[in-house]
Amino acid sequence: MENTEFITKKLIDWYKSNQRTLPWRGTNNPYKIWISEIILQQTRVVQGLEYYIRFIERFPDVKTLADAEEQEVLKYWQGLGYYSRARNLHAAARTVRDQYAGKFPEDYESVLNLKGIGEYTAAAITSFAWDLPYPVVDGNVFRFLSRLFLIDEPIDTQKGKKYFTALAGQIMGNVSPGLFNQAIMEFGALQCIPSSPDCMNCPFCDNCPAYGKRVVSDYPVKKNKTKTKDLYLYYFHIRRNGFTYLYIRKDKGIWQNLFEFPLIESEKAIEPEVLIKNAIFPEFISAENIDSLRFVVQNRKHVLSHRILYATFIEVSLNEEPEIPNTVIRIKEKDIEQYPVHRLMEYYMKTQL
Ligand code: SF4
Repeated sequence: MENTEFITKKLIDWYKSNQRTLPWRGTNNPYKIWISEIILQQTRVVQGLEYYIRFIERFPDVKTLADAEEQEVLKYWQGLGYYSRARNLHAAARTVRDQYAGKFPEDYESVLNLKGIGEYTAAAITSFAWDLPYPVVDGNVFRFLSRLFLIDEPIDTQKGKKYFTALAGQIMGNVSPGLFNQAIMEFGALQCIPSSPDCMNCPFCDNCPAYGKRVVSDYPVKKNKTKTKDLYLYYFHIRRNGFTYLYIRKDKGIWQNLFEFPLIESEKAIEPEVLIKNAIFPEFISAENIDSLRFVVQNRKHVLSHRILYATFIEVSLNEEPEIPNTVIRIKEKDIEQYPVHRLMEYYMKTQL
């Protein structure tokens, strides 16, 4: 492979004058690095920043996080999505508390063994905190390297990941791993962005074949394009005498242990008239129980990695107390804010309650 020293130097020079000031930069506290990396895996920096600050204020160290109840952790995560990551953070914090006496392990393998930490996060923590020589290869790094070296190897295969990791390691050379990793990630995040990067003002414009051949938008290459499926959710905001009802998700899906209104799920849209005519309601309410029914929000779209959700919220008043199954709880409506909920519920609560 060609000499890569000039790439390393240009990246570090660029980083020194272009890096953003962020609260998790300039720290070598592995706990804070870990929290920031997990939050940033699922959100843009601007939004992630607010969550990070709130999270660290409430859970300033690994022990505080480990000692908290899972539901409180989920409440602080509310709105970020990918709730399994919050559950894994909590479980891993308990492992650090119980198996490592509350002190973050300092070697790559032990960090990698913590729940919810993959190769990417383990490399980020160990290189930023202790300057261990593990290249961090995130979406930003894949994009930049694939364009700069015109790499046709798909990034979503084991072979591709290995290839890119080895290449990043070679470019890292002998410079500080923490500094190098931050520089290459920041370069992909700010300069070599997914669409229409400013190639004319890029320090690599004279050496970048993707730019030279006008094929920037063809890179990186992916093998499996994600197929998405539609799912229609019909939420019933059931009201009676100042009380409402919440269902708690117990399945192993992304919304496990979050609360939501009782619902009906369908892979096809159900027209309002059809829903009413056929009494397609949660099993514990019947048509005779219903005093009034109103469609409040219709087909609110929410995009997940493999699903596109369309949520409809239906407000229902009951004329008598229903008998509820043990998956549903009855709460005072004014207390609803205390429960961890997902984005769609949050949207409804903010706009309608
Ligand atoms: S020239 Fe364009 S495509 Fe190439 S590295 Fe720079 S920003 Fe990325």
